[in-house]
Order: sequence, then structure tokens, then C-alpha cells
Amino acid sequence: MKICEQFRELIQAYALGALDGEDRAAFEAHLATGCSDCAKTVEEARWLVSQLAYLAPEATPSDMLKGRLMQTLRAEASQPRIAAPSKTGIPFWMWAGVAALIVLSLYSALEAGRLRVEIHDANERAAAILRERQQLQEQLAVAKREAMIVTDPASVKIPLAGQDPQAPQLEAKWHSQLGICVMGHNVPMPAANRVLQLWLIPKAPGAKPMPSMTLRPDPDGKLVLLVSNPPESMSETKALAITEEPEGGSLQPTTTPRWVGGVG
Ligand SMILES: [Zn+2]
Repeated sequence: MKICEQFRELIQAYALGALDGEDRAAFEAHLATGCSDCAKTVEEARWLVSQLAYLAPEATPSDMLKGRLMQTLRAEASQPRIAAPSKTGIPFWMWAGVAALIVLSLYSALEAGRLRVEIHDANERAAAILRERQQLQEQLAVAKREAMIVTDPASVKIPLAGQDPQAPQLEAKWHSQLGICVMGHNVPMPAANRVLQLWLIPKAPGAKPMPSMTLRPDPDGKLVLLVSNPPESMSETKALAITEEPEGGSLQPTTTPRWVGGVG
């Protein structure tokens, strides 16, 4: 055991292949005597060295390896020898290298964590962009349909006269397949929590107005409403009307129409 003590500090250097000359010969001679203690320690040190080889910056060392390295480093640091390395001691640069590897691997673990957060953020941004794109595509589809209704000569033009003389005239175009598009400019903004609602007045005597879509003009007073699926066919509809209603719309008109226009 006493003999082994003198070799202890050489074993890691031996395992790293950094031991030569007299020290190496002496240690190998000692190993040749069949000391199982030293043989085992060499085996462990070689395992440690083999693990170091896998310490590429992106690799995360096992906790066990980190523990072992820290333990070894602490043991080394507690010995005054580290301040003034002897000829036979493990060179300081080697431990500096090991320490650098540990710092590097801890840093890379930290970086991996940061990277995961960044990937998460990037995914969220991508999802937001996709949502935005989908919204734009929907808006584009609506705009396309509106344009088709407005430009198709088969559409029926329905002027909607304002009941208030100051109200601008609105215009609707009704395409038997594509639906109704209502447009207007300088439309006064309804009060807060109020909307404009479109109604279809059926030809059938005594039939109640059929509720359609609601909207508010944009801040510039521009109004564009697309009704893709009108609740009644054009041939069965006598007139279109627009009333002001509470937000969410009504099942029956609760105010007198602001605009009215006869169909056909
Ligand atoms: Zn021994």
C-alpha cells in the first residue's frame, strides 16, 4: 500500500500517455508485480480519458464523469504540488485542459438550453406568421370574391338609398352564385357597441325580414360587406335593407332602416 501511494499521482498521467522515462519504467515495473489496486486505478483512469475523447463541445458529459473530474480537480488543487508542478507530476496544462473542457461542456449545456428556448420562440414566430398568412389568404379570397361579384356583368346592381338625406348612397351587387357585395363610402360610424346589419325582405306577403351579416365601416367610413350565402334567393327577395343594431346583430330589425334598395 505504501508503495502504491507514491504511484498514485502518476496514474492519470500514465493513462493519458503523458508519463515517460524513469517514472514510466518504475510504474510499469510495479504493475508487473501484479498490484491489483494500481491496475484497477489505471483502468479507471483510462476510462476517464476515453470519456474525455467524447467531450466534443456539443456533447453533454454524463453527471458521473463531471463528478469524477471535479473530484479529481479538487484533490489536485488541495495539494500544494499544483502550484509548483514537479517533474513527475501531472502537468498543469493538462488539468487546465480538463478544466477548460468542463467549462466548455457546461457552457454547451447552457447553450443547448438557450438554443431550446430560441427554437421554441422561432416555432412560435413561425406559427404566428402562418396564422397571419392564413388570415391574409382568407382576406384575399374574400377580396377576390368581392371583385368577381362587382365586375361580373351577370351581377344585379342594387342602389341602397339612405333614409337620412345626409347619408351617402350605398350600392349592392348580387350575383346569383357568388353572393351579395355591399359597398359604400363616407358611411357614418354607428355608436359604440352598435353595428350595421343587412336584411333581406322577402317577396312573400307577410314574410319577416331575414337577418344577414353585421359590420362596422372602417375608420375612413369605407364599408364593404360580402354575403357569400344569402339566406334567400334573389328571385324571392323584394328588397335589401340596413338597420343599426346592437353588437352581434338581431333576429328582427329593432330600428327603422337607414338604407333600403329594391331588388330587380
Ligand atoms: Zn500498486
